[in-house]
Amino acid sequence: MSNKAWQGVAGFLFMKPVSILGSTGSIGRNTLAVIGKFPGRFRVCALTAKSNIQLLAEQIRLFKPDLAAVYDRPAARALTGLLPSGTKTEVVYGESGYAEAATHREAETVVSAMVGAAGLKPTLAAIDSGKDIALANKETLVMAGPIVMERAEARGVRILPVDSEHSAIFQCLRGNRRSDLQKVLLTASGGPFVDLPAAAMADIRPEDALKHPNWAMGRKITIDSATLMNKGLEVIEALHLFSLDLEQIEVVVHPQSIIHSMVAYRDGSVLAQLGVPDMKGAIAYALSFPERMPLDQPLPDFYELGALTFHAPDMEKFPCLDIAFRACRAGGTMPAVLNAANETAVHAFLSRRISFVQIPAVIQETMARHELKPLDIEEVLRSDQWARDTARDIIARGDAGS
Ligand code: NDP
Ligand code: MG
Repeated sequence: MSNKAWQGVAGFLFMKPVSILGSTGSIGRNTLAVIGKFPGRFRVCALTAKSNIQLLAEQIRLFKPDLAAVYDRPAARALTGLLPSGTKTEVVYGESGYAEAATHREAETVVSAMVGAAGLKPTLAAIDSGKDIALANKETLVMAGPIVMERAEARGVRILPVDSEHSAIFQCLRGNRRSDLQKVLLTASGGPFVDLPAAAMADIRPEDALKHPNWAMGRKITIDSATLMNKGLEVIEALHLFSLDLEQIEVVVHPQSIIHSMVAYRDGSVLAQLGVPDMKGAIAYALSFPERMPLDQPLPDFYELGALTFHAPDMEKFPCLDIAFRACRAGGTMPAVLNAANETAVHAFLSRRISFVQIPAVIQETMARHELKPLDIEEVLRSDQWARDTARDIIARGDAGS
């Protein structure tokens, strides 16, 4: 074999094999953008999407994964039809297809970036097969945090946060003793309605709520950011990811989104991680941890920014945050119910079946009807389905006010 060929083989061996669940989404696309910046460093084993097969076909052409998984058979057929002859990527579909992508035998790291409860099973499958997880899908930890963390520990795999706040906390915790930790300060942009008078909240339309001031994200998380449910879900995510007590987590509204979160120690020192609001930083760190790759991100322009501001969240104007705290305190299957009711309510708001202020009302009413169960994975999945059916019923009957 020639020298060049040997170099090729050696390069291939040192490439980190990665699979991406939800590659056509906002996080998925950003992950491939990061990977694309470092040719020779990563190898893509598997990609998944739900139904955006045009984009998935393009990603397959560029990154040549071994496997691609989509939601159902028609999507798989259509995808196969889009791929040029000679494409080596195997196309699979459905739950078993997603499981195959999550457990691809060569992948070392699985980027969990599907949206919503759909991410839970494939993420657990990836953990059980010994993959490190770059976790964007916070719903996995909201629904079944203790189970997920236990299984990760048992299997000796790392859960590396992609959510920017959790990446910040993870970075601020490094090099310090856990016993010195006082609390975590989770920053929130406050979303597009941070300054809107409470009386105007009922008139918010989906197109208003989809305009996030700082971050470009998928539709569901953008609505969650506008209601502050995203921050509620992130509190639960942080609780499990970093083994915290609820009392150790404080939410601080910081509209500029430059400080991505902070950690306070018992001597009064507060460490913060700063950066421009771009998910590529957190994604790259989760992919290359503990190394930092030369990303060419601009630094925050402090002179241009002038001031960084902070205030407490308005729990009355944004009841979702308080509802999430309550679900977390209730424990058991309640956080899974919170999550499923929220997904259903957000979907109904986006399709103009309920108003913005009915989102918390639907979630609250669903939680009030739930009979709490102890945490086990079957109960979590049953409660998730129950909460979706119940929330839909509440919406259809108009039981969440007007
Ligand atoms: P998007 O809606 O942009 O993308 C979601 C991805 O999941 C797409 O690939 C989509 O496929 C796929 N998908 C959707 N529904 C299903 C399903 N039922 N089964 C299988 N795959 C499905 O979401 P985001 O990228 O914004 O968010 C992904 C996750 O990351 C969420 O959990 C979010 O909370 C979290 N996160 C996102 C951040 C962001 O900046 N976007 C920041 C921090 C966390 P298709 O395109 O075919 O529909
Ligand atoms: Mg976040």
